[in-house]
Amino acid sequence: MDAANLRDRAREDRLRRLRQLRKEFFEVPLFENKYTVQQIIGEGASGVVCSAVDNETGELVAVKRVSRGFDKIPVSVRILRELKFLRLLRSHQNIVEIKDILMPGSTRDFNDVFVVFELMPTDLNHVLRSKTELSELHIKYFMYQLLRGLYFLHTAGVFHRDLKPNNILINNQCALRICDFGLARAAFDDEPDMVYWTDYVATRWYRAPELIMTHFTKYSTAIDIWSAGCIFAEMLGKGKPLFPGKDGYDQLQLMTSVIGSPSDEAISKVQSARVREHFQMLPRKRRMPFTQIFPNADPEACDLLEKLLDFDPARRPTAGEALAHPYFKAFYEPGNEPMGKPIDQNEFAFERKKLTPESMRLLFLEEIMLYHPEHSREFFQDTRHGEFELPSQADVFASAMRSVQEGIAQRKTTSMPKAKFKPISEAYKAKREKMRQAEAEQEAAGAKDERVPMGSSASWYGPSRPRGRASPY
Ligand code: ADP
Ligand code: MG
Repeated sequence: MDAANLRDRAREDRLRRLRQLRKEFFEVPLFENKYTVQQIIGEGASGVVCSAVDNETGELVAVKRVSRGFDKIPVSVRILRELKFLRLLRSHQNIVEIKDILMPGSTRDFNDVFVVFELMPTDLNHVLRSKTELSELHIKYFMYQLLRGLYFLHTAGVFHRDLKPNNILINNQCALRICDFGLARAAFDDEPDMVYWTDYVATRWYRAPELIMTHFTKYSTAIDIWSAGCIFAEMLGKGKPLFPGKDGYDQLQLMTSVIGSPSDEAISKVQSARVREHFQMLPRKRRMPFTQIFPNADPEACDLLEKLLDFDPARRPTAGEALAHPYFKAFYEPGNEPMGKPIDQNEFAFERKKLTPESMRLLFLEEIMLYHPEHSREFFQDTRHGEFELPSQADVFASAMRSVQEGIAQRKTTSMPKAKFKPISEAYKAKREKMRQAEAEQEAAGAKDERVPMGSSASWYGPSRPRGRASPY
């Protein structure tokens, strides 16, 4: 079959899929649906993203439908985590914003979650794969915004862990927003330092060397900095990925052929003895200067890139340090970049509980109701008298109220209208404080035993030594 035929067939397939999706996308019962699907704009690991038009206002939005059902607890946990991160990190210009989560038609048996975002015309992957030529200024402005977003995330104690061009949205004004928090994690102070990355499936090409050599490593914001470096190089290289490794081994080979063999000091910090030995046996490779790889690029850009792509995570600059690099002097205002507030650990208390599809569904409902406070009373009443079998309904309910109180209600926002939030009275706050104390006492009295690491979250509380010997790659 010739190329033209193949193209025609691919176009037909796409159109057939679009017709089917238009029919099916919103077919599940929703409390109220005012959107009509326009196009499929993305299909990722967790769901389908469509552009849609608000039938009342004519406004265009992006709707991500996640329909895995609640019986796959680890998948649901990831999605819930993403919704929470996006809400908690909502106020920053370089993070995509959730406008709404559609209310299901029934509280008892809904399986699909529809998340409404502002519609961004494209993502960086499309830009890089298209014929659009990025100017030096475009690249600088995108990198500035990416690092600015990372500065906000990292100062809030959040690691994105899956930065790549597909997860970076761009609009017509060249504004950049980081999206897809499906793999993001928060570092809480009492977390053990060493963790398993059992659920870590991020795209290899943008993965930091410390994550390729072993999955047993410290959480560090430097992994996002490495990915930012790879994205920077891809922009400078007119869309050519810097390290398109076929497998872990190949990935490391490509890295060392550009940035040179790691120093003895960097090797000595590698956790796995096997990987250390492996590196010591390999012939030494010299660094290839970025000024040679990108001869037309600004030398300041090459200098920054070299720093971002340091083999040793401890030597990579933080997002804040990278922003202060002379390369960004046209944009960066020292002391004026918004920092994130550490996120509330209570928001993620659910990860330590035993979860069932029913309790998962309730947790999603609580999250959805934060966008529909005017309906929350009737919905939760329905739930309380309904058929949910919860380990501790009161406890989960209380935690939802706390989210409203500490999360949304008090959070400053530039994006969501204030009228959406219920004011909270002093009397209510006092009552909540009492309840929280009672909960803390209960927990201290032995409730800790009930904490079961669930599914993918096991890596947060994972055992402190390796389980068996895994391949270093
Ligand atoms: P997944 O977890 O499935 O990868 P993403 O949130 O990354 O989900 O979305 C998949 C794709 O959909 C993105 O790569 C992007 O192309 C597109 N997309 C996501 N959100 C938006 C949005 N708000 N506006 C426009 N396109 C979007
Ligand atoms: Mg994605």
